[in-house]
Amino acid sequence: MPRFSDHTTVRVGGAAGEWIVADTEATALDVLARHPLPEADRREAGEDTLLILGGGSNLLVADAGFSGTVLQLAFDGIEEAHAEDGSGDVVVTVAAGHDWDDVVARTVERRYAGLEALSGIPGAAGATPVQNVGAYGAEVSQTIVDVRVWDRGRGEVVVMTGEELGFGYRDSVLKRTTIHGSPRYVVLSVRFRLAHRGDRTPSAPVRYAELARSLGLDVDAALDQRRAPLQDVRDKVLALRAGKGMVLDPADHDTWSTGSFFTNPILRADQLPELPEGAPRFAVGPDADGADLVKLSAAWLIDRSGCGKGFGAELTEGRASLSTKHTLALTNRGSASAEDLITVARAVRDAVSDRFGVALHPEPVLIGTSL
Ligand SMILES: Cc1cc2nc3c(=O)[nH]c(=O)nc-3n(C[C@H](O)[C@H](O)[C@H](O)COP(=O)(O)OP(=O)(O)OC[C@H]3O[C@@H](n4cnc5c(N)ncnc54)[C@H](O)[C@@H]3O)c2cc1C
Repeated sequence: MPRFSDHTTVRVGGAAGEWIVADTEATALDVLARHPLPEADRREAGEDTLLILGGGSNLLVADAGFSGTVLQLAFDGIEEAHAEDGSGDVVVTVAAGHDWDDVVARTVERRYAGLEALSGIPGAAGATPVQNVGAYGAEVSQTIVDVRVWDRGRGEVVVMTGEELGFGYRDSVLKRTTIHGSPRYVVLSVRFRLAHRGDRTPSAPVRYAELARSLGLDVDAALDQRRAPLQDVRDKVLALRAGKGMVLDPADHDTWSTGSFFTNPILRADQLPELPEGAPRFAVGPDADGADLVKLSAAWLIDRSGCGKGFGAELTEGRASLSTKHTLALTNRGSASAEDLITVARAVRDAVSDRFGVALHPEPVLIGTSL
C-alpha cells in the first residue's frame, strides 16, 4: 500500500485504507459516483471516506495516515483552440492530473502569455483553482475561463465560470466548500485563456517589483509597459524561486515542504495591532462590509518573532525546521514525522501570536492532524 510520505512533497504521512490511481477521467468519475457527499456533520467531524490527491504538494497527512479511499488524479493532456472573438488569444484546456509546471513550460514555448510568472510551482493543474495558486504578482484566476467539476452534492459534472468560482487570495468556492479535506467539487479539467500575438508575444504585465527589477524593467512605469520576453520571465522566476528553496530538488531538504506553510494574514485596517514602523503592509481593498483590508507579511512576522531561518531544529532533534532559505516554509530535514512538523508549526504560530497578537493560518490542507 502506498504511503503519503512517498506521494507528498514534504514526505511525511502514513498509508490509506484504499489507494486508487485514476489514469483516465472515466475511472475517476466511476470512483466519484460511488462516493457522494456525506452529511455536513460527518464532514465537520472529518469522517469523509474520500480524499483527492493531485501532486501532494499542499498536503500534510498525519503519521497514522487516512483510513478512507485516496483518489489520485493522474490523467493528463492539454488541448488548445483559438478564442472565437478573433483576438488571437488561445484557450487551453488542461486535464486535472497534468503536471502544472509542464503546462507553464509548454505555453511559454508556444508563445502564449499569462502563466509564465507561475513557473516552478509543483503539483497538478486540477489543484490550481482550488487555492487560486499565485506567485510573483500572478494568480491563476487572472486567466481561468472556467473549470469542469464533479459536484458530489448533485452527483453530476458541471461547469463553473471564473466568476462562479469566487476567487480570492489563496481562496475560491472550491476551497471554501472543502471541509477538513472533504471536497464538494472535484476538478476534472481547467480552461485558461492566454494571449498570443505571434512569435514575439510579450509576457503579461510584471506586477511584482522584485521580479520586474531583476528583468531590468522600470518599476515606476505604467503596469502595461512592464512586459518582458516570456522565456526571460520564466527563467528569472525559476532562479528567484530556487534561491528561496521553492523549486523541488530531492537533494535539498529546504524544498521538502508544502511551500509556504502560513498564508499572509489579512486584517481590517481599523483592527491592526501595533506593528513596528518597517512592518510590510499592503492595502488589498475593502471587505464585503466596505471596511479597508490590509495584508501583512507572514514571513516578516515569523522572522521578527524570534523564529528565524532554521528555527525548530532544536525542538525536534533536527528532524524538522523552518527552511534555512525562507522562514515561510516548514521543512522535513530527512527523517521528520508529521508530528515533528506540527510541533514546529505550533511554536511558530504561538510566537507570532505572543509577539504581535496576529493569528497565522496554515496554507496546506491538514489531514488527521491540526495545529
Ligand atoms: C516547493 C513548493 C513551492 C510552492 N509554491 C507555491 C506558490 O508559489 N504558490 C502557491 O499558490 N502554492 C505553492 N505551493 C503549494 C502547492 O504547490 C499548490 O497549492 C499546488 O496547486 C497544489 O497542487 P497539488 O496537485 O500538489 O495538490 P495536492 O497537494 O495533491 O492537494 C491539495 C488540496 O487540493 C485538493 N485537490 C487536489 N486536486 C484537486 C482536484 N482536482 N479537485 C479538487 N480538489 C483537489 C486536495 O484534496 C487537497 O485538499 C508550493 C508547494 C511547494 C512544495
